[in-house]
Amino acid sequence: MKYFYWNERFEIGIPIVDHQHRCLVDLINALAETVSDGSGLLDVKEVLERLTRYASEHFADEEKLLAQSTLGDFEKSAHQRSHQAFIEEILTIARDENLEDAAGLEKILEFLTTWLISHILRADKSLGENLQPAPNSPPAQTPDALSVSAVERVLIAALSETEKRFRLISDHAPTFIWICDPNGRRGFINKTMIDYIAAELSPQKELDWSNAIHPEDRAGYEQLLDQILKHPQSKDAEYRIHKPDGSVAWILERIVPRFDSGGKFLGLIASGTDITNIKQSERFLAQANQELEREVARRTAQLEALMLTDPLTGIGNRRFINARLEEEIARAQRYGMDLTVVFIDVDHFKQVNDRYGHGIGDMVLQTVARCIKEGIRNNDQCARFGGEEFILLLVETDVAGACEVANRMRATVALESQKSHGFTVTISAGLAQFKKGDTVESLTNRSDRALYLAKEQGRNRCVIEA
Ligand code: GH3
Ligand code: MG
Ligand code: MG
Repeated sequence: MKYFYWNERFEIGIPIVDHQHRCLVDLINALAETVSDGSGLLDVKEVLERLTRYASEHFADEEKLLAQSTLGDFEKSAHQRSHQAFIEEILTIARDENLEDAAGLEKILEFLTTWLISHILRADKSLGENLQPAPNSPPAQTPDALSVSAVERVLIAALSETEKRFRLISDHAPTFIWICDPNGRRGFINKTMIDYIAAELSPQKELDWSNAIHPEDRAGYEQLLDQILKHPQSKDAEYRIHKPDGSVAWILERIVPRFDSGGKFLGLIASGTDITNIKQSERFLAQANQELEREVARRTAQLEALMLTDPLTGIGNRRFINARLEEEIARAQRYGMDLTVVFIDVDHFKQVNDRYGHGIGDMVLQTVARCIKEGIRNNDQCARFGGEEFILLLVETDVAGACEVANRMRATVALESQKSHGFTVTISAGLAQFKKGDTVESLTNRSDRALYLAKEQGRNRCVIEA
C-alpha cells in the first residue's frame, strides 16, 4: 500500500536534493507496505542503516546549499537543528535493543511521515525558494523546521490511528481479508490469510497467494477475478486451498468492488471464510441421503417381493401369478407362442390335516411346492393359488409337453411325500393351452374345469381340457 505518490509538491527544484527526497519517499512507501500488509518485509536494522547513510549524505548536501541561501541566520540554524534532531531520533530508535522489527518499523514510519510533512514540505521548500527567488513568489514560511501544524498533527494521528485499528481488526479477524488495486495486484493481505496459506514472504517476491489455491480451482478463480475487475460487481467464490499441514480447506469468499466518492473504480476488497466443515457436513449429508435412498429402495424391493410371495411355501402367490399370466398371455397373443396353464390340487388334503394335524399339513404343502418349483424350467412360473391349490405357467409349451411335466410332478410328489412324511400324497392336474383371444380368466377357468374332471375321474391324474 503506497502512502505517498511522488509529485511536484515534494520538489524543491534542486535536482540532487529532489533525488534524495524521492529516495526517502520510496523508503516510506516500502515501510508502509511492510507495516500494513507484511509484504516486501524489511529488516529494522537495515532501515536504520539506510536512514543514517541518507542523513549523512543528504544533510551535508543540503547544508552546503543552506549556506548559499538568502535565508537569515535564525532560519539556517533552525534548519540545521532539525537535521540534528533527525539524526538523534534515528540513534534513539537504534539504541533500543529490545526493538522488534514490526514495532521498530512502525515507529520509523511514523517518524518519517511526520518528517516528510514537517521538514521537506516546509523547511526544504523554503530553502529551495530562497535559493532561486522568484519575483512574485510569496514570502518564505516561518522556519520553525521541526514544528507540525496542529491540523497536520491531528491528520497524521488520525490516519495512523485508523490504519492501526484496521490492521488490528483485520489481523485478528477469523476471516481472510485482501485488498487489490484495479489491476488485481493485492496490496493488502491480512495476517489470518498469510498464516493460513503460509505464504512465502520475502523482500524480492510479491506475496504468492495463488500458489496455495488448489490447481483444479485456480483457473476458475482467476477467471472470476478478471471478470470482476473488468465489470466490477460483488461476487462469491468458492475454492480449495492447500494448508501448510498438507490438508485441503474450502474457502467461501465475498468479493466486493471499491469505488471512490466520484465513482472511480479503486479495486476489490474481499473476505473469505473456511467452510470446510460445512462442505464436509454437506458431503456426509449427501452420502447419508444416498445410503438412505438405497436402503429405502432395498426395503421397497423386499416389500414388493413379500407382497408377491406365499409365506408358507416361499413360492409366488396369486397376485404374482396373475401378473405373470397377464404378461405371458400378451406375449403368446403377440408372437403366437405356445403357453399352457396347469391347475394342481392336492388330493384329499382335508384328510391329511384331519389325520396328521395342521402342522404336518403345512409341511406337506411345502413339500408339494418344492416338487413343483424343481419340476419346472427357469422361464416357467409357479404359484400357490390358495389353500392346497397350485398353478403352473409353462411358456413355449403345448399341452402335451405340459402333461408330461405334470405327470412327472405327480410322481415326484408321491415319492417325496412318502420320503419326507411317511405317507403318500397325490395331486390332480387340469391343463389348458392358450388359444387366441384367451384372457387370464378364460384360460384359468378352462384349466380349473379340467382339474374338476380329473377329480371326478378318480384323482391322482392329469386331464387336458376338452
Ligand atoms: P379334494 O381331493 O376334493 O381336493 O379334497 P380336499 O380334502 O383336498 O379338498 P377340500 O377343499 O375339501 O379341503 C381342502 C383343505 O385344505 C381344507 C383346508 O383346511 C385345507 N387347507 C387350506 N389351506 C391350508 C393350509 O394353509 N394349511 C393346511 N394345513 N391346510 C390347509
Ligand atoms: Mg384338494
Ligand atoms: Mg381344493
